[in-house]
This record gives sequence, structure tokens and C-alpha cells, in this order.
Amino acid sequence: MVELKTDTSIDAMYAAGQVVGRALTAAREAAHVGVSLLELDEVARGVLRDAGADSPFLGYRPAFAPTPFPAVLCTSVNDAIVHGVPTPYRLREGDLVSLDFGAELDGWVGDSALSFVVGRGSPEDLRLVETAERALAAGIEAAVVGNRIGDIAHAIGTVCREAGYGIPDGFGGHGIGRRMHEDPGVPNEGRPGRGMKLRRGMALAIEPMLIASGRDDWHTAPDGWTLKTNDASRAAHAEHTIAITDAGPRILTARQAV
Ligand code: MG
Ligand code: MG
Repeated sequence: MVELKTDTSIDAMYAAGQVVGRALTAAREAAHVGVSLLELDEVARGVLRDAGADSPFLGYRPAFAPTPFPAVLCTSVNDAIVHGVPTPYRLREGDLVSLDFGAELDGWVGDSALSFVVGRGSPEDLRLVETAERALAAGIEAAVVGNRIGDIAHAIGTVCREAGYGIPDGFGGHGIGRRMHEDPGVPNEGRPGRGMKLRRGMALAIEPMLIASGRDDWHTAPDGWTLKTNDASRAAHAEHTIAITDAGPRILTARQAV
């Protein structure tokens, strides 16, 4: 069932989304060569503490997971696509890092992700990251009253495929609100004009995931959480929580320029 949010609820989700934006900005700024993934998780924990917010990631245990998620931040490096568990691994020059973060504030959840290269990136990696952002922007642009879920999926998928990238099978975005994962699902590829009609008050997490090689297959690492590409090629991920309003899509996890 899809819960439509009131304007007041959307404002409350924006407040949660701003905590997410601050944490991602802080973690990204801290992500220098030699810094560990656990240290990035610590940075994000500090932002949650300062805001009096909770983590919807910490202790999260969906059906596929062997253990509760042990961190507040997902850190997916190089061939990791999403759900990377922070480890003592220290970042190296040229690593392609995806950070995914959620915050719960006053009962409302925000969820967002970004990808970047540590230090100097290869042209291939920078293009992958830029395409993830472009796919996200295209998906958001399609999130307007009167469109359907398939229009968002088609917009995302078109950007990814035209650039020659793979789209991991079976993963995509989701409705969001009082819980991190609500209806409807938002696939990263689909047919325009199909699926649920988009209505004012729907809140969605839109999140393209791209595989550099163009393949769509993946496997779960031995930690039971981290999704990795099957051919060791690199992956990127970008995500925003948005609300559909009469004035168009409102990005609730927008990050302030630094
Ligand atoms: Mg996320
Ligand atoms: Mg999400």
C-alpha cells in the first residue's frame, strides 16, 4: 500500500533528509587516501548524534541478510555495488567509493547515496560516476504527477544503457516515509507509461546502480551483505529521497554546496 504524505509530513521528511545530506557531505570530505571505511562510519555516526537522529541501517536485517547490518553507513568500494560493510580497509588513490546513508528524525526517514573517486580518478571511473548522477537526475525529472513508475524506470535505464553500462538485476529504488522501504518499488529499467500512477504526496528513494562492464549480474560477498560485480568491474550508485508535489519533484536529501 502506498502512503501519500501531507505537506507537513514532507517538511518533516526534508528535515530528516538534511541530516542525511550533512552526513554524506562530511563522510565524503573525510574520504582521503589512508582513511579507513570504519572511520567514515564514525564520521556519519557523529552527524547522527549531533542531530539527535537514529540510523535505519544499524541493526537492519532483511530476509537475505545473515546478520544485522553493523554500521550506519554503507561503504561500497570499486567492484562493490551497494550494501558494503565498513571495514578497516584504508582508502587508496583512485578508489571508486559509493556511500549510502539513512537517517530517522522525528519518525521520518531519509535515504541517499553518492559515488566519487578518491584523489585522481581514471576517465572511465569519472564517466561512470557522472553517468550515475545523470541517471538519477533523469529519474527525478520523470517523477511528476501524471507520470507512472515506468516513466522513472525508463528514464534511468535509458541513461545507463546508452552509456553502455549494466544495471544490477533485481535492485532498485523504493517508497519511503516512516519506514525506509515502503511501496512502491522503483525499478532502474522499465517501460514508459507502465506501472503505478504517480500522485502528489508520494515519497520515493530513486537510486540508479551502474556496472561499468555492461553486465547485470552480481553476487554476494562472504560477509553476506556486500553486493559485488561478477566480473570485478567497477560500480557506481547515486540516490536521493524525493517527494512528488504539484510544483514538481522536491529533493528531500539535497546536499548544501560546500
Ligand atoms: Mg540508500
Ligand atoms: Mg534506498
